[in-house]
Amino acid sequence: MSKPKNAFEVFQFLDKSNCGECGERTCLAFAGAVFLGHRRISECPRLSQEVLERFAEEPDKNSPQEPSPEDRLEKLKSKVTHVDLAKAAERVGAVFSGKKLTLKVLGKDFSVDEKGNLTTEIHINPWVAVPFLRYILYGQGLPVSGKWVPFRELGGGRDRYPLFQKRCEEPMKRVADVYTPLFDDIVHVFGGKKVDKQFESDISVVLYPLPKVPVMICYWLPEDGLESSLHIFFDETADRNLDIGSVFNLGAGLAQMFTKIALRHGFDMRT
Ligand code: SF4
Repeated sequence: MSKPKNAFEVFQFLDKSNCGECGERTCLAFAGAVFLGHRRISECPRLSQEVLERFAEEPDKNSPQEPSPEDRLEKLKSKVTHVDLAKAAERVGAVFSGKKLTLKVLGKDFSVDEKGNLTTEIHINPWVAVPFLRYILYGQGLPVSGKWVPFRELGGGRDRYPLFQKRCEEPMKRVADVYTPLFDDIVHVFGGKKVDKQFESDISVVLYPLPKVPVMICYWLPEDGLESSLHIFFDETADRNLDIGSVFNLGAGLAQMFTKIALRHGFDMRT
């Protein structure tokens, strides 16, 4: 279909349940993000096959098409076939054995072999698989410094920070506000750990989406009429161990995953 003229043209195809599963608060907010090119309509999990095909069948010939996450993934897999995985494993804190490089992603084994085939104990989502491969191909492998910084202080993070807040910190805060087991899940299901409270937060947990790219989530409970808040911090080396676009995608992917878990447990993300 031709490029939508406004957000309402996208909105009319949506489920209009405001379920929050896409990480946006409402279907209209999601439609606006699709119209502005910040999201792909296929990121709404409630679309019928017919709508998906309708949006996929006629690419807009007037504007350059961004490769889909699946296309990006295929390209990266083919690049991996030219890399010495044993050396890459040393650089990025992985293990090389049986012609496969293996490292922990959120506490689970994630591997790539010399032919670019991925194997893992978890579902292979592009939001994890693309950063995983970019980390192996281009990450500098710097040791984690222990100095936590917000996303906006990473190289290339300042301009993207408003979108990072919208796609990562705000949806994650909404989950933390209603789904109280979130931080236990992070520790017990995703191999995270509780750490001493940082920046005077009430809860601080550290997750490892990649071995040298830890992510710290700090949550402040509501107090004295003040709303709760949640901020995400990265090690100051994150922008060299991974490109900033992939750091962003990891944050957005985590927020979407936590939102889906909370919804699956019957929590309403609209409040
Ligand atoms: S996932 Fe987002 S866009 Fe899709 S129905 Fe739910 S709120 Fe609306």
